[in-house]
Amino acid sequence: MDIEIVEVGPRDGLQNESVVLVTEDKVELIGMLAAAGLRRIEIASFVNPRLVPQMADGDAVIAALPDPAGFSRIGLALNGRGFTRALEAGVDEINFSVMATDTFNQKNQGATTFETLAAFEEVVVGAAGKVPVTLTIGASFGCPYEGETPAWRVIEIAERAAAAGASELALGDTIGVADPKAVTRMVSAVRGVIGDVPIRCHFHNTRNTGLANAYAAVEAGVRVLDSSIGGIGGCPFAPDATGNIPTEDLAYMLGRMGTETGVDLDRLIEIPPWLSERLGKQVPGMLSRAGRFPSRKSS
Ligand code: ZN
Repeated sequence: MDIEIVEVGPRDGLQNESVVLVTEDKVELIGMLAAAGLRRIEIASFVNPRLVPQMADGDAVIAALPDPAGFSRIGLALNGRGFTRALEAGVDEINFSVMATDTFNQKNQGATTFETLAAFEEVVVGAAGKVPVTLTIGASFGCPYEGETPAWRVIEIAERAAAAGASELALGDTIGVADPKAVTRMVSAVRGVIGDVPIRCHFHNTRNTGLANAYAAVEAGVRVLDSSIGGIGGCPFAPDATGNIPTEDLAYMLGRMGTETGVDLDRLIEIPPWLSERLGKQVPGMLSRAGRFPSRKSS
């Protein structure tokens, strides 16, 4: 496999949809994604269920999945308590998230960036040898409150997280404002301070630059990309905006480039129509509407 796709639709995607899927539908969705060859799937968020009702059934989702699941079940945490809950729920890996800017981090998780980073440094040591832990640096390319994110903040967070034992560092474009050259610059700057810790990129397609940014990341040597099936997710700061880059469109583009992802496109493109029906709206992803090329018969 040349590029590993991390599917974030069941968490990042569904969390930002107004329609709340019932637990059985979430479990069915995750099963279809796994059957299409996705091997790392973010399935639940261990945050306050009163603040994020879409994710309140995380424990039930995990309990309904086979164990071992045949794929890595990722849980999201924003602080030490969420981290402990995720471990206790039995996830296979944890995605711990911090925002690069203080205002965004205060609003999202009630602490400054470096307070949350200190919490990460504490828990990641305790998790060593148990589960892999990724640190996602949200708002790496821009913040809805502070505007441009100073690069030094992202670089310092990355350096400290790698030194603390993060198994992977994800650069998150939470509000979809990165451009391909900014991606190239940031990946290169972060790589310079984290040794051989892998870099993962998380792009939102809020302003239709998501696939271009993904391509820039691949060209810069990034081997792990996040995406959400159908491009679901939206953006809490832009009510009509689309979500993460669509998994099926990303897998198609990479496959067309001759880059192996291990994903079965024929299975994958059956999921967005199912999802559109459940969510009561057309999901943004384009491949399941246009069809793949060459078609399966002629290829
Ligand atoms: Zn996201």
